[in-house]
Amino acid sequence: EAFTSMNLSRPILKGLANVGFVKPTEIQARTIPIALLGKDICGGAVTGSGKTAAFIVPILERLLYRPRQTAATRVLILCPTRELAAQVHSVAAKLGGYTDITFCLCVGGLNLKRQEAELKNKPDVVVATPGRLIDHVRNSAGFALDTCEILVMDEADRMLEDGFAEELGEIVKACPKSRQTMLFSATMTDNVDQLIRMSLNHPSRLFV
Ligand code: AMP
Repeated sequence: EAFTSMNLSRPILKGLANVGFVKPTEIQARTIPIALLGKDICGGAVTGSGKTAAFIVPILERLLYRPRQTAATRVLILCPTRELAAQVHSVAAKLGGYTDITFCLCVGGLNLKRQEAELKNKPDVVVATPGRLIDHVRNSAGFALDTCEILVMDEADRMLEDGFAEELGEIVKACPKSRQTMLFSATMTDNVDQLIRMSLNHPSRLFV
């Protein structure tokens, strides 16, 4: 019923309490247990359903219970717009506020050189738009996705509508095959289905 009965660690429960989330929404109740197992997820969920916390909570939890000795970017979250990326980044930083997990926002309009320097510090979680992220993948010497353990594509239908299919394909290929992938989309078009088939491995399909 409540987040406290979901087997989450104390710092994450504190983060949830801090933003005032007591009971999981439907998408959260269904996504979190499956995502905690490391499974791929394909979620049909719109903005307003609580899908942000549905993927952020299990991500933070998995980062905590599998700590790394050396700094590495372990999670990439792709969003269609700067505004959405900034929102996701803010929610993630708040929910992770009682952990030492580090976050970076990587979107167009922010200074490219400063961003490059930030990425060189290897933040655990990078929240990005595909256009800006691909610039770093192609041009930045210090940035690679080969340590990425979890890839999230939020509002995949919008990213595809905006013409980012090629960038998404390139980013997916730059991530290790063994990663966990979560894809969320309000609509299921042929293009979304194609992206699902190329990027997800036996996904659990959740529609709310
Ligand atoms: P989202 O769909 O992730 O953009 O979330 C929609 C709105 O619901 C946001 O304003 C969140 O702060 C809020 N929200 C998400 N999860 C919960 C929850 N478990 N309890 C209360 N509010 C929530």
